[in-house]
Amino acid sequence: MEEQTRTIVQQSLNALLENETFLPELKGDMRKTAFTSLSAILSTPNQIHKSFLRIPLEEGEVIRIPSYRVHHNDALGPYKGGIRFHESVNEEEVVNLAFLMTLKNALHNVPFGGGKGGIIIDPKAFTERELQRICIKYVRYFNNVLGPDKDIPAPDVGSGEREMDWMMAEYKKINQGQPYLGSFTGKSVVNGGSLGRREATGKGVYFTFRYLLNDYVKPNEETLAASSNPFAKTAVEYVDRPLNVAVQGFGNVGSVTALEAFRCQHIQNKVVAVSDRNVTLFNADGLDIPALVNFTATNRGDLPTTPEQLKEINVSAEIRSREEILTMNVDVLFLAALENQLTDQNKEQIKARIIVEGANAPTTKEADDYLSEKGVVIIPDILANAGGVIVSYLEWLQGRETQFYTEEQVHTQLLEKMKNTMDIILPQYFGDPFPLRQNCYIHSVTRLSTVLYKQGKLY
Ligand code: NAP
Repeated sequence: MEEQTRTIVQQSLNALLENETFLPELKGDMRKTAFTSLSAILSTPNQIHKSFLRIPLEEGEVIRIPSYRVHHNDALGPYKGGIRFHESVNEEEVVNLAFLMTLKNALHNVPFGGGKGGIIIDPKAFTERELQRICIKYVRYFNNVLGPDKDIPAPDVGSGEREMDWMMAEYKKINQGQPYLGSFTGKSVVNGGSLGRREATGKGVYFTFRYLLNDYVKPNEETLAASSNPFAKTAVEYVDRPLNVAVQGFGNVGSVTALEAFRCQHIQNKVVAVSDRNVTLFNADGLDIPALVNFTATNRGDLPTTPEQLKEINVSAEIRSREEILTMNVDVLFLAALENQLTDQNKEQIKARIIVEGANAPTTKEADDYLSEKGVVIIPDILANAGGVIVSYLEWLQGRETQFYTEEQVHTQLLEKMKNTMDIILPQYFGDPFPLRQNCYIHSVTRLSTVLYKQGKLY
């Protein structure tokens, strides 16, 4: 598990151990034992499943692809988490992502545990037929540990509704006569998916930023400006003024976040930069985000990389290197690509004073500590990117009831749930000097600890 996650969870546990109003019935040695159990439970996954998928390629070669399914903790409900298709997937990363899912679900009161999957491939290097084979084999190899009441995967980097449809079809075939609609979420709507699921994470990411600035800081501007809280001081500087925004990653999460920013009527945003694994596109007057979204839809998800391609879609932008987006002179930086993007190496060059983590774990501990020390407001992954799992929960519910909601009902419930969490967390954040990540972790760990104690697990 990554050092940052482990450290913050341990700090949260230490704070709870000292706070005798928390589980006051636990006293003396019993209290110490319970907290040692808690630390052990949270710092290790329940199970790590690993398989080597045997895949015949179209050209005749047969390869074996390492793949994972990690079950971190199921105290709150069945394991839940995406399956990442990426060449950099490794066991430690999948464990860390599963742990973040446990914390995320606890934070937003979603009745799921934490799980995650990974397949070590570059999906763009395989044909559609080969990818389908990979999905089918994944389900065959992990069938015993998956299911609507055991572990429910969803898309993550490199996967989407097409892959979830293939996987659900295989699950249905293997488990004939069993309920199957709740076995995978993020499916296409015709296959039992939820309206609004595709946009859910990106919408939620943007909503956390908008809600923090417009619905919390703005009405409390005077009080916050007078407080000594460093994050309050930063936030008030950004109320009611035009903001330059950059979005790293232009996939499922990033493209929707960029569109939300582009269309937002509540805040004067200008999306001046977006990026993917090939390029950063920059325009100081603002980019035409809908045109870029249309382009990626017909170009395997890639942004334009040449002046000719930009001209073709009538988009005016400078083509810069992929990494430049991170250190540009912008007010707000949305991170929606991969982990470990803000690091010890680039932390001193980061100019944005508000950072929103659409991706999981995009900020290393060194960068996080450094930026927090400087009063940068970082909306952490487990708070910002929970839209996907919240709507996955709604999809799972709809699948069980075979009753489907309208897109508007889905988005209203999504934003309501995120608002409820923000209403609990933000007053604490602006009231004490801890970074928002730590506030969120304390909240999640408190909920998990209480549930584990009541389930008799802390001995
Ligand atoms: P995605 O659709 O695969 O998009 C990933 C984006 O990041 C693509 O634009 C990709 O570019 C870009 N990218 C990849 N490597 C990069 C690099 N080294 N530098 C800059 N950009 C790079 O994945 P996603 O679903 O949007 O997920 C993005 C992040 O959000 C991940 O951390 C994921 O765990 C997290 N997340 C996703 C969901 C969800 O519902 N999808 C929910 C919660 C959290 P190319 O297209 O050129 O490869």
